[in-house]
Amino acid sequence: MSEKTIHLIIKRQADPNSQPYTEEFKIPYRPNMNIIGCLMEIQKNPVTADGKETTPVAWESVCLEEVCGACSMVINGRPRQGCSTLVDKIQQPIRLAPMSTFPIVRDLIVDRSRMFESLKKVKAWVPIDGTWDLGPGPRMPEKDRRWAYELQKCMTCGCCLEACPNVSSKSPFMGPAPLSQVRLFNEHPTGAMHREERLDAIMGEGGITDCGNSQNCVQVCPKGIPLTTSIAALNNATTAHSIRRFFKN
Ligand code: SF4
Repeated sequence: MSEKTIHLIIKRQADPNSQPYTEEFKIPYRPNMNIIGCLMEIQKNPVTADGKETTPVAWESVCLEEVCGACSMVINGRPRQGCSTLVDKIQQPIRLAPMSTFPIVRDLIVDRSRMFESLKKVKAWVPIDGTWDLGPGPRMPEKDRRWAYELQKCMTCGCCLEACPNVSSKSPFMGPAPLSQVRLFNEHPTGAMHREERLDAIMGEGGITDCGNSQNCVQVCPKGIPLTTSIAALNNATTAHSIRRFFKN
């Protein structure tokens, strides 16, 4: 082992029903390492800092370029991506923990299904099903396309849900990411076909009224998505929608 080491303190849990515990690791330092590199190093030689053999730490990652959202975890108290967090840029010892808003699977792996279920609930897609060629879609004005591009950067990583005090296992609140996707698809020329259904969905249980306006979400989003702007726009849209509905009935 080289002289310089990286010190990690990792919260672990063998399965959803067992008790969490922590283990410390000291691994050889290399410049420009990210957190996933550290976990791979532990996987190669799963021995704790005090020399005890252990099981490799389990984590999830896919793209390693902050696009898939799979390697979200809490690093030194902040929800972020293991792939884009560089050891040289953070303090040691580095504390890793799984996100607490989602059910634990094992070690740093959590089950983010609640977010995907919310995306289904709000129909977060453009309805273009068909076996035939529909031709090119309608064009969007450049200024709309630009902000829509910012919203579509969401990688369902779950960091904004983890940071939100109103999202928890005890609350049905869907959280900022699915809400922001409602704004994205409602403003799309074809996506707008489901506009009213989406607004109805976020006016129900676990919807927009559960937002407590803490604004934590926008501070942790790795993609810098203007989540609070989306929520404010949806507050206006849902108010207008309920007034329209009132006069229709
Ligand atoms: Fe992650 Fe940002 Fe999407 Fe929330 S809005 S899930 S923090 S990318």
